[in-house]
Amino acid sequence: MTGTADSAKRSQGGAEDPHEALCPRQRVSYTCQRGHAFEVVFAASATAPAAWDCRCGKPAGLCDQSAAEPELQRRMTQVRQRRNEAELEQLIADRIARRN
Ligand SMILES: [Zn+2]
Repeated sequence: MTGTADSAKRSQGGAEDPHEALCPRQRVSYTCQRGHAFEVVFAASATAPAAWDCRCGKPAGLCDQSAAEPELQRRMTQVRQRRNEAELEQLIADRIARRN
């Protein structure tokens, strides 16, 4: 699920943290409603939240089936099945058009 271009970009932000050896990390994968996949790094002892805000502003759900809350996972699956990206773009365009 990891985009190579994406992870290369992110690693510039200090992935080589010297404290990493002292504080074990876990990488948690999320996928937002628009289908963007990304990873968030937490301390290994922390419990990853079931939802995280994507860079596009949409809420993202956990990718990892085993870690996801069943209710959220089901909703995310329904959203992905019902709406593809083109339909979402249309929905957003409609909303903007109505507002103006
Ligand atoms: Zn997104």
